[in-house]
Formats: sequence, C-alpha cells, structure tokens
Amino acid sequence: MKIPDETNVEMICSVSELANLFHQGQDIKGFLAQVVRIVSSHMQTDVCSVYIFDEARDVLVLQATAGLNQEMVGKLTLATGEGLTGLALKELRPIREGRGADNPYFKPIPESGEERFQSFLAVPIIRGIRRVGVLVLQDEKASRFSKSDAMALKAIATQLAVTLENAQLLMVLPGTEDTKKKREDAAGRLIRGTQVVDGVALGSAYHLEGPGKFDGLIKAQNRDYRNSLDDFRKAIDDTEQQLEDLQKRLEEELADVASLIFSAHLLMLRDEGFSGAMEELIKNGIRPCEAVEQVANRYIAIFADSDNHRMREKIQDIKDLGHRILKNLIADSNDRGDYTDQIIITSELLPSELLKLSAQNAEGIVLYGGGTTAHVTVLARSLQVPLIYTEDDSIFRIPENTPLALDAHQALLIVNPDEAAQKRITQLKEGSDRLEELESMAREETRTADGTRIYLRATVNLLSDLKVAGRIKAEGIGLYRSEFPFLIRSDFPSEEEQFRIYSQVVNGLESPLVTLRTLDVGGDKILSYLPESHEANPFLGLRAIRFLLENKKVFVGQLKAMIRAGGKKPIRILFPLVSSLDDFFNARRIVLKSLDFLKRDGLGTFPMPKLGAMIELPSAVEMAPELAREADFLSLGTNDLVQYMLGVDRTNERVAGLFDTRHPAVLRAVKRVVDTAKAADCPLSVCGIMAKDPVTVYYLMGLGVKEFSLEPGRIPEMQSAVAKMNMDNAVKDAEILSKLGTSKEIKEFLKKIALPV
Ligand code: PEP
Ligand code: MG
Repeated sequence: MKIPDETNVEMICSVSELANLFHQGQDIKGFLAQVVRIVSSHMQTDVCSVYIFDEARDVLVLQATAGLNQEMVGKLTLATGEGLTGLALKELRPIREGRGADNPYFKPIPESGEERFQSFLAVPIIRGIRRVGVLVLQDEKASRFSKSDAMALKAIATQLAVTLENAQLLMVLPGTEDTKKKREDAAGRLIRGTQVVDGVALGSAYHLEGPGKFDGLIKAQNRDYRNSLDDFRKAIDDTEQQLEDLQKRLEEELADVASLIFSAHLLMLRDEGFSGAMEELIKNGIRPCEAVEQVANRYIAIFADSDNHRMREKIQDIKDLGHRILKNLIADSNDRGDYTDQIIITSELLPSELLKLSAQNAEGIVLYGGGTTAHVTVLARSLQVPLIYTEDDSIFRIPENTPLALDAHQALLIVNPDEAAQKRITQLKEGSDRLEELESMAREETRTADGTRIYLRATVNLLSDLKVAGRIKAEGIGLYRSEFPFLIRSDFPSEEEQFRIYSQVVNGLESPLVTLRTLDVGGDKILSYLPESHEANPFLGLRAIRFLLENKKVFVGQLKAMIRAGGKKPIRILFPLVSSLDDFFNARRIVLKSLDFLKRDGLGTFPMPKLGAMIELPSAVEMAPELAREADFLSLGTNDLVQYMLGVDRTNERVAGLFDTRHPAVLRAVKRVVDTAKAADCPLSVCGIMAKDPVTVYYLMGLGVKEFSLEPGRIPEMQSAVAKMNMDNAVKDAEILSKLGTSKEIKEFLKKIALPV
C-alpha cells in the first residue's frame, strides 16, 4: 500500500518532536525504542530497527527494534558492508529491495526472526561526513516500499541525525561497560595520520581535553600524601622554584618566544584565591591534597564554562599547576609533574600551549583534524616535537595512560605497541641525532648537475632555527617570520624586546643576506589579546600589511626595531600580502618616517633598508610589473599564492586535496611573475610550499629562479635533489609545463620526465 505524502510529512514532524524529547532528558535506550515504534507505526510496516555505528569497533550495533527479536538488541553487530544494512552504511545510499533475500549482499540472521520479512528498506544516517547509523524497515509483504517511502525515510533519518549522533556519542561516554569495551577495542590498533613534524616517540596517552579530564588530578585519599600545613607550604615553594627554573631554561633556549610563558602559573600559584584558598581549607581541617584538588577543580570548572578561548587555555595551566603541587606533596613520587613519557592527544593546540608542552618534555603530539593553525605546525617544527594530524576520532577513546608509539615518519600512532614496535621506535630515537645528520649531508654550495649556482636560504621562524641554519651553512635568511613573538605573548612585545630578537636574527648567520618580514598576523594567526580580532573570513580580513597600515604604532615600532637591529648592515625588509602599488608606497612611507623618528630620538642615522613585496595575491600578480619596478626585491609566497589563486583555504584539511601547487593556473601565474621580475631586473626569491618540493623547485629553476627560502632542516636534502637536476632540461620542461592546460596533462608529463628526486 502506498503511503500518502501527508502521512509522511506528519510523521516527520512527530519524529522531530521526538528528537526534542531526547534533549529533555529522555534516556537513550528508551528514546531509541520510541523512535522505532513511532516510525514503524506511521510507515505501517512490520519492522523498524535502528543500528548505531560504533566507530571504535567499526561495526553497526542494533540498538532498538520494533518487530525483530528484542534479545538481539545490543548484541547483533554488522561490519560496514556486511549484509544489506552494512551495505547502506558503506555506500552511503538507501538500499530498497522488493525481496531482500534476492540481493547477493543479503545476509540472513535467523536469531533475529527476520525470515518472514521480505521487503527491505535501509537508509544511512549521516551527520556531515560522520556515519551515525542505519535506519531499517522490513515488511512481510514483498515489494512493499516505494521510492517515496525511501525518500520519506531519508527525511526522517536527516531529522533524527543530530539527535542520533548525540546518542552515538553518549553511548561512548566514559565509565559505562560499553565504553570500556570500546576503549579496549581501540587498543592494539594503528591509527593513521599525516606527518606534521618528523620524529618518533614512546609514551603513554594523555588527553588534553574531554570528559572526565578533571580526574587528571590525583585523588586525595592516597596514603602517601603528606598532611601538614608545612608540607603544603613546602610544596608551594617547590612548585614555584620548578616553574621559575623552567621559565629560565626556556628563556635561554627560546629567548624570542618564551618570555613570561609560565607567568600565569606563577601568578596563580601565589594568588590568595588559589593557594590562599587552599591554605584556608587546610587550616579548617581539610587534608592538603584534598584542598589542592578542590580549589583547582573549582577554577577548572569556572574556566571550562567560558566561551573565551584564552580563558579555556587557562584550564591547562590550572591542571599543570594542580598536578605539580600534588606531586610535590607526595613523598616518594618518581613522577616529575610534567609531561615526560607522555604523548598528548588533543583536538586543539594553541601556540603557547605547544610551547608549554614542549618545555615540560611532552614526547609527542597527536592532533585531531583541523584543530590548529598553520603557525602552530611551523612552531612545532621549530620545537622539534614529533607531531601528526589525524582525522580518526577513535584517538579520543584511547584510555588515559595506554602505552603508545608515535612514528611521525610513517604518520602512524601505534596503540599498545608490542615489544618489536617499541624496540624499533627506541632504536630510531637513539639513532637520530638529526642535526649531526643534516650537517654531514650539507654542501658548501648548491649547484645543478651542470653547474648552475642556486641559492638556498633559510626560512627562520624561531631563533632556535638559526642554530640549524648555521650548522648547515645556509646562505642567508630568505624569510624571517616575525610574528611568533607576537603570537605567543599575551601582549605586543616592546620595541626593545623586538630589537633584541631581531639583532640575534641579523647577526645569526655568517651570510649578510637577511630578510626580515614585517608582522603577518590575521588569517589563522590570531593575536588573542586584540579584543576586536574576530572576523568571519579572517583570511580575507585585516591581515598582514593591512593590519600594520591600520595599526601604525605597531608598524613603526616594529620597523624601528628592525632598522636598529640592522645597524649599518644592508638588511632587507619584506611586506607580506601586498595587494597594490598603493600598499607598497604606504608601507615605504612608514619606513621613511621610522628612519626620521630614529634620528629625531637620537637613536642614530641608519641606511635605508632594501624593501620588498611579497607576491601572494592574484592582485599582486597583476601588479607585478609595477611592483618589480618600485621594490628592491620580490618574494613569491607560494603558500598564500596557491590559497588565493585557487580559493582553497590552506588550513582546511577537507580541501587539502584541492590545494594543488601544480595547478596550471598556479604554474602560469608564477611564470608571469618570474618573467616580469627578470624583465625589470628585480631580484626574486621563492618561499613557502613550492620552495620545498623538488618538483616545483625544478619548474621554478627552469623559469629562471635562482633563490629559494625554506626551513633549514630541509636544505641539505634539497641540495642533493638540485644536484641531480639538469638546467637545460629544466628550462625546456618548464616551457612545456607552463603551456599545459589540465592537471592531468601536468601529472602525466611529470611522470614521463621522471625527475631523479
Ligand atoms: C607564504 O605564504 O608562502 C609564506 C611564506 O608566508 P606564510 O606561510 O607565513 O603566510
Ligand atoms: Mg604568506
């Protein structure tokens, strides 16, 4: 019997009411039972069942049914692709059969009591790209379900998706038997990801967030705890001393970004409301450990409630602090109260957090999805913390303290590694003095196989990169990204602080070529201390040079610090995200003003620095002839150029496949810029992603580019790659590549020429 459309519409409405019921506190099982009852009654079918997808085990679980054997609820599982139900989930499409048993994928499950049902209709329940489950109808009568039934069921599945997804998530809340099982099942597995920072690590799982995280604090009933007020006060002193030592060490190693990184900890530690409140509790008879736990958890709860990013960041500080105090209260603990021997799992990572984790010896980091920003990955590279990204959310179901092996080289996380895996990782770790290895690979000069001289300069993000750049004898600094000291601090660094940092950059290498880029914030590089910094489309917002032209005080302060740091040296100053000649002229005017201010303030007379424009916008490509005429040099910023040419967010993992550096439009745009710079006799160098891929370097060399800037750790490998390339071939191949019209042709051509890289 065909079901009239009105009925379907009515039913969809009552289903959405049902969904609301769930939000009002209905228990999950009862809610699901109601769903199947109402759907089967409205659709007038013999059976309605709901299967929820258990991601950890990669199976569908029958969670409620009206019409099948109730005993199977919670027990009947189907793998993705198993039976018609599994097929609906695998192929993410409705499966409608007049006689289910006629379909070769049909899998009889006699215990379910479904033999007598002939018609079959299953639709997947999907939320975004997440698989939530499958909704199934069955009926005794053959050919019972029409196309419009399938559409109605699809609409119901869509209506219910949000609620069922919540049910799916709640079913894996910690503490339930189910969850424990799922968490155990997550063990012994390989979790795949993408390498962000190479390296290997062994350690136990530590979740930076998630339900139950407050339990990360030690329980107070442990007998080993010291109990007197004096013990508590000593623990506070010890904690303070440790934090000060940590801060000092960090400032020695990472002077540019480490300033006051543990200041919030230290301030908090001595605060009346924090250690003062703990002391009060102890005086009132509460044991010290309990007092620490109570007060710390109170603060955590307050911060957790906040919508503010920066407030939430403080949660980790409080946890760190609580943990440290408690550890210092334990008489015989080997635990250092930091992240030694721990691998951090998180979906969000702020630059300052990363720095704290690294300073506190975190072994490695597994980051879920797009929970971070490009500069965090850059920072992680400079800090050399092994780090992978993964889209596999089963990482959140790995129980705390589970042994893990992180092999970022192969972009793998091994849960509960066996002895052989542990041994392999240990060996890799021991055998990796990366710096020594790089140094031994590095060459005095970079030349192609036929002797053309190429200049590989260092891209410097942190002062610590200078050490690597020095050891491999990089030929100057092609790009110093000045934003990190701004991003990590909680306020603008003073001109003096900047001066000290830039002086180290300017004098960091033997080569006199130093390119200091002015502040490139905005986009994904958010200064959290600017209250008005929220923008709907930050990559199209007040970014880079636009920000500086709007904030002239900051601009002048930075330029003065850069010029002073340069002294009599002919430094190069580079403006990011220039979109017009006007931008460039405006920026140049501020440089001239800054020189005047320096003179006026008696700080000295300095030579005019060489001024460059980054070509990273399509508008700058158009304006390249004029910019090449006016600027002293150009720098092709290929990360942004690809992003803006193709309209693909460089930080969005979901469109990472579209971020194509070999797209014909990109190849042609860079050719235009290179030709223009050549014609104007304007020096040009390339930085960003195309400068670190040997294939695009080959193309660019073929166009005539001789200067590249890349992370110093990548230079020796690139030198070897360039040494295998032949310049005459590169010129011919670049000419052909620039004329090809499709990515397919480009791919095929590159395959044919098979670069020896
Ligand atoms: C670029 O865009 O290529 C570049 C080097 O700048 P950043 O990655 O800092 O935006
Ligand atoms: Mg850029």
